[in-house]
Amino acid sequence: MSNHPMDDLRGQIDEINMQILKLLNQRAETASQIGRIQQELGTTFYDPVRESEMLQELEKANNGPFSNETIKALFKEIFRATLALEETEARQKIIVQRKTADEKTVITLPDGTQIGNSAFTVIAGSCAVESAEQMEEVAAALSERGVRIMRGMAFKPRTSPYDFQGLGEPGLQIARQVANKYSMAVTSEVLDPSQVPMMSDYVDIFWVGARNMQNAHLLRALGKVQQPVILKRSFGASLKELIYAAEYIAYSGNPNIILMERGVRTFETWTRNTLDISAVPLLKMETHLPVIVDISHSAGRRDIAQPLGKAAKAVGADGLMVEVHPNPPVAMSDAKQQLTIPEFHALMDAIEGVTIN
Ligand code: PEP
Ligand code: MN
Repeated sequence: MSNHPMDDLRGQIDEINMQILKLLNQRAETASQIGRIQQELGTTFYDPVRESEMLQELEKANNGPFSNETIKALFKEIFRATLALEETEARQKIIVQRKTADEKTVITLPDGTQIGNSAFTVIAGSCAVESAEQMEEVAAALSERGVRIMRGMAFKPRTSPYDFQGLGEPGLQIARQVANKYSMAVTSEVLDPSQVPMMSDYVDIFWVGARNMQNAHLLRALGKVQQPVILKRSFGASLKELIYAAEYIAYSGNPNIILMERGVRTFETWTRNTLDISAVPLLKMETHLPVIVDISHSAGRRDIAQPLGKAAKAVGADGLMVEVHPNPPVAMSDAKQQLTIPEFHALMDAIEGVTIN
């Protein structure tokens, strides 16, 4: 039986398909090489001028039968796929970026406490260290509920320079002594790289506040410490910017980073900030780092701490952070949002009622 002429033509099409496939992948390989050079130079992958020049050249060279419009549409699709490939390859290089579904950073403190495993970690304590008595009273309550990590803030970056700025090193001494008594870890905010050596003697977890999230100098310095680092999202930062801020720490040598969502600034005035709850699943999808929700600074009010705490647990956060004070109305900072000790117990009861699978 003789071959139908269409079989022959189809054979030719099959061969051309194979050639196009080979050329497309050859093109992708070459584009990847360009992407790697662009990454080293720190330039962006998308170059609209170059893209428009390539399209013009193709139009000039096109003799049909495809119209220029069709050729442009086809090549634009190739350009789009190439850009996506370059971006995927670049993401593989980012240390904090999730590479596989089950990858996770679990942070283990010297006493064996883990953050980022399946347990829900509560970090709590007063906004600032004010006195040994205040810290003692709060620590006793935290310890009763099994809290292992206490806030011991001695340097407060306040909006006004006339407001209480923290007790400094004496505050750290108080925090350390009280935490030792209850076998708890201390976390404390560092404002400047020059404080790192002194603070290393007192803190188990360094803390970068929202205002310093993009302080590259500080982030690099924290890449060199032994302790883990809590990195708070700035109130004006995108999630991508937060991830890159974490990358500064990881790239500088410290992989033990905990991300903290603390609300972003919006037009809403009934809360201090707006808790971006979607940040939690997104950060967990995009990175392998533990994610904690600050239910105090995000709301700026104590009366919605319970629902926000329950939401944090339900949405898959690795824990929450809450401010607790023996007498919030007289607190030297954040009086409106710190929980009383009974409110703290009620919060713990509420979140214990949320089961996650
Ligand atoms: C804090 O948590 O102590 C604090 C100052 O919050 P933020 O940096 O998010 O404003
Ligand atoms: Mn505070």
